Amino acid sequence: MTFDYDLFVIGGGSGGVRAARVAAGDWGAKVGLAEESRMGGTCVIRGCVPKKLMVYASGFPAAFEEARAYGWEMWDTRFDWAAFRGRLETELDRLENAYRNTLINAGVTLHDTRATLVDPHRVRLATGQEVTAKHILVATGGRPFVPDIPGAELAVTSNEMFHLPALPDRALIVGGGYVASEFACILNGLGVKVTQVYRGAQILRGFDDEARGHVATGMQAAGIEIRCGTDVMRLERTSGGIRAVTTDGADREYDLVLSATGRRPNTEGLGLAELGVRLGRMGEVIVDRFSQTAVPSIHAVGDVTGRINLTPVAIREGHAFADTVFGGRPTAFDHELVASAVFTQPELGSVGLTEEAAREQEPIEVYATAFRPMRSAFAGHGDRVLMKLVVSRATRKVLGCHIVAPEAGELIQMAAIAIRMGATKEDFDRTCAVHPTMAEELVTMRKPVRTA
Ligand code: NDP
Repeated sequence: MTFDYDLFVIGGGSGGVRAARVAAGDWGAKVGLAEESRMGGTCVIRGCVPKKLMVYASGFPAAFEEARAYGWEMWDTRFDWAAFRGRLETELDRLENAYRNTLINAGVTLHDTRATLVDPHRVRLATGQEVTAKHILVATGGRPFVPDIPGAELAVTSNEMFHLPALPDRALIVGGGYVASEFACILNGLGVKVTQVYRGAQILRGFDDEARGHVATGMQAAGIEIRCGTDVMRLERTSGGIRAVTTDGADREYDLVLSATGRRPNTEGLGLAELGVRLGRMGEVIVDRFSQTAVPSIHAVGDVTGRINLTPVAIREGHAFADTVFGGRPTAFDHELVASAVFTQPELGSVGLTEEAAREQEPIEVYATAFRPMRSAFAGHGDRVLMKLVVSRATRKVLGCHIVAPEAGELIQMAAIAIRMGATKEDFDRTCAVHPTMAEELVTMRKPVRTA
């Protein structure tokens, strides 16, 4: 049987774009790709990239404060949201075009429309056209999930945060995950009065407890009101804004409510289950280690599979898929020891096991130090950074590293290489310090603070 394409990719986000580019550009496959929204997907258009630019924008007031302490005379500062948003939109247009051109240059045929599956080798485009492919890759990502409470429609999601007509004076942020905590810090940095409510005991569930506490303390010190053990029961439009009634009995008015209550895989209406593709409880596509679904011609990568929902993971899964299916090199991406950063203020970088998870697994030693870094101490700020290593008592391997500090994301990337290579605590100790830095503490902690 002949097909229109060797590969048809549904979804032009991080995973789909990488798979299409490698299959076509490196392995000479005939590839088509359909994207119903903007090329680049969540990360580029409504996630990591615009978020990080907002993180940068929100960091200036603190930098201005610090500059004063270092002897700079500061002029009056004012943030022009509309000007920033305009520049952001221009940058996203540029990036979208770059993604588009990369694919076109690799020989991929682009279809700017929605695609759904008809059979294991056939997709239907929203234009009515049907195309056949030997292999189909589902890389449709995810979308924000908003709990069904009265007035839920009054809340915005992260999708809308980059297009706000104006910055609010008072914002309520619901959720305790990456998105909620990052936007709490961004808005706070931009001068918005921020309240964050989270139903659990401490924000950033899943991260190391000590590190989570450290981040929360830093956020509160920066002026964010964090109310844990609290959830929103209902929202109502008022003449002055949005009234939020929470489970702790509070009844307050805000100008903006952001629901950052998780994401769901985009599988609805694709026709996957009808073809025999297995879906999980949240609708995620179930795949094996080579990203193959229960239907052999259909693979899936990225957030739609709900494995680890991070851009670099989707990219590696997409690349591994293309190498496996078109390059004759069976490659399974290893989901162990994936480092990540939460771009809060203070920033959190983490790789490997938390102290809590490691303790469950084997006897451990914990090395940790919290201190005021030179830069902010000089400026008279109380900010403290945290450097923490979780070490196996049996093998001496560093099982986890958790950093709460400026540029923790940059630092954890480096630590992740050593830990991925199986570095022991003694390897860290043999490494000579770089002075004066914050990260030198990672190689100078001599005594465990705890054993377990
Ligand atoms: P997360 O799953 O990280 O957090 C969702 C939050 O919403 C949790 O605090 C959760 O509470 C809460 N929640 C879920 N359902 C409800 C409900 N019905 N009522 C009240 N609260 C609820 O999702 P995010 O949207 O923050 O992020 C999605 C994914 O995107 C992350 O998993 C991450 O992988 C990725 N991401 C990564 C970033 C980075 O690398 N820096 C930045 C942003 C996103 P509970 O903990 O109790 O379940």
